[in-house]
Amino acid sequence: MKHSGASTAQEVPLPVAETTTGPTTKFAAVPAYFRDVKFDPVPYWQKIGRWKDITEKQFLSYRWGTANDIQGKMKLHDFLKETLPEKLPQSDEYENIRTRDDFIKDVMDGIDRAPMSIRISPHIISSIDWANPLEDPLRRQFIPMMSTFQKDHPVLTLDPQHETEDSPVQGLVHRYNDKCLFLAASHCPLYCRFCTRSYAVGANTSTVTKSSLKPQLPRWEAMLQYIASNPVINDVVISGGDSYSLMPHHLRLLGDRLLAIPHIRRFRIATKGLCVSPSRTLDPEDDWTDELIALVKRGRECGKHIALHTHFNHPSEFSWVSREAAQKLFANGVIVRNQSVLLKGVNDSVETMGALIRELADNNIQPYYVYAGDLVRGVEDLRTPLSTILTLEEQLRGTIAGFMTPQFVVDLPGGGGKRLAASYKTYDRKTGKSTFVAPAIKGGETVYEYWDPLASLPAQ
Ligand code: SF4
Repeated sequence: MKHSGASTAQEVPLPVAETTTGPTTKFAAVPAYFRDVKFDPVPYWQKIGRWKDITEKQFLSYRWGTANDIQGKMKLHDFLKETLPEKLPQSDEYENIRTRDDFIKDVMDGIDRAPMSIRISPHIISSIDWANPLEDPLRRQFIPMMSTFQKDHPVLTLDPQHETEDSPVQGLVHRYNDKCLFLAASHCPLYCRFCTRSYAVGANTSTVTKSSLKPQLPRWEAMLQYIASNPVINDVVISGGDSYSLMPHHLRLLGDRLLAIPHIRRFRIATKGLCVSPSRTLDPEDDWTDELIALVKRGRECGKHIALHTHFNHPSEFSWVSREAAQKLFANGVIVRNQSVLLKGVNDSVETMGALIRELADNNIQPYYVYAGDLVRGVEDLRTPLSTILTLEEQLRGTIAGFMTPQFVVDLPGGGGKRLAASYKTYDRKTGKSTFVAPAIKGGETVYEYWDPLASLPAQ
């Protein structure tokens, strides 16, 4: 089905939401019983030399966090120089990298070739094992290395889901009949190497000029107008970039505008913030989480469902701050679901993925999806073949209650939506090609292809 474009949509006045004014309500921190779980004899950020005197109050401040993130190549260079030991543990995978200087050179060359720019939050910086950064699963996700780049499969692109093609208004992806994706901004508190939206998210890099989606009211107005004029849409995902990059009052504005549209029955707010910058949820000086909780309550009052969708990939991304933040959201009635990406060398073992699922479940975050890596250019070292996700599902199903078992899916390249990985129609392990169909999308006639990384194929 082709969607009607913005120019053909009937112009209707947008419903005006009653805006909440005055001081934002401050919501409860965490239940008292949860405090017992905290045990951190040396606060984990104080293990980083430059933050050895930073107090808990400072670390939990979102303002401090954004002022101290590592953004850009030179800031990362200086950080590595002052933090890494001179000699690194030997690794079979990185046999030519033995010293700090080898590592820094490899990273600097990797940044010049990568499609995503560098931004890493203090929480993630503090959670990386800097004594052994080569093998660290968090370093692999956020800091590229030249020596691990692999030849791109010929089908890879920077927009593998063809979002631009399915956007009747810039930044509004309308592919499925009843729901749409509202790309509110193109910045994040941290940049993932494997971002599916590498065409737009983050700053320009040496190899990619981004189609920036700025958080501007006139752009949002056109997107809201399209949603209000299309009564078939009843479900919206607010994403980006990351919803954390919205000002708290912008979160309220967008949420209230959507609540005021009668045919919108539910929406989801997508942010990796809970994973990469959890202190914000506990910061009494910052209003983002209070606005979220208040919005969820207003949604409930008018019978509409609002949930937070987040993105943890590895158990090491959790600290006591993350656990307290997740419990605060739970205590205040916010439904949180997690969408993980399956990444080679990060979470592609049964043990690690099993531990992640359990950590999420124990913190009342529903393990919702595990995605096979998207066919994004420049990150083949992180992709796994389809067979890996099939094995993980086979081994992990039954290890935890069904409602806490994620769906193991492929987000079909070309915009076919999410299909269970095990629902492939064909899978040739020699060529690495698998095929899927999606009867509910665009008439159901397209056969969608997913391709294993070249390096995973048999030599012949
Ligand atoms: S947080 Fe999400 S949108 Fe931002 S870089 Fe990571 S994957 Fe991309």
